[in-house]
Amino acid sequence: MPPITLKTLTHWVFDMDGTLTVGVHDFPAIRRHLDIPDGADILHHLETLPTTERDAKHAWLLEHERELAMRSTAATGAIELVQSLCQRGCRLGILTRNAKELAHITLEAIGLDDCFAPDDVLGRDEAPPKPHPGGLDHFIQRWQIAPSEVVMVGDSQLDMACGQAAGTLTVLINAPDAGEMAGADWRLEDCRALARKLQTS
Ligand SMILES: [Mg+2]
Repeated sequence: MPPITLKTLTHWVFDMDGTLTVGVHDFPAIRRHLDIPDGADILHHLETLPTTERDAKHAWLLEHERELAMRSTAATGAIELVQSLCQRGCRLGILTRNAKELAHITLEAIGLDDCFAPDDVLGRDEAPPKPHPGGLDHFIQRWQIAPSEVVMVGDSQLDMACGQAAGTLTVLINAPDAGEMAGADWRLEDCRALARKLQTS
């Protein structure tokens, strides 16, 4: 078998916030507003709350994130990368801990909504939040391919852990402070560097 290179991969799943967009979520501020302990996983914490409080906090989060989504800007090289994969006929998905509805608003805001089939955008209500591999498992089954034929691109440890758990390849970008994160098969500065690598390797 020829060695796996990024160029040969045809099934790509992207994280959205901070990967295809400039990250604007202030997670410590969100935790403070929702009275969630420092460092706790926001979505998991909300699930532990009594129903009324949980629903109210989810509603606040959705509205807060809706405002962010409408003001989204594309990350460096994201448009060129996604459009070139799209033109090559690659199958593209989004796996985000944001809401699907807001993922569509975001993709439209940055001009990439045409590159993703609506059913290939999974949010927090369609799949268990990363690092749970359920979202990637969904794509693997839907696309009828082996895990090793899929690549997960993201900017956080959650994305890399999700890819590892599902058995996909992983690309870490936009994470200058990540240190030596285990598990990324490729590590590149940003989407522009990834697009360049696709042309050369
Ligand atoms: Mg992210």
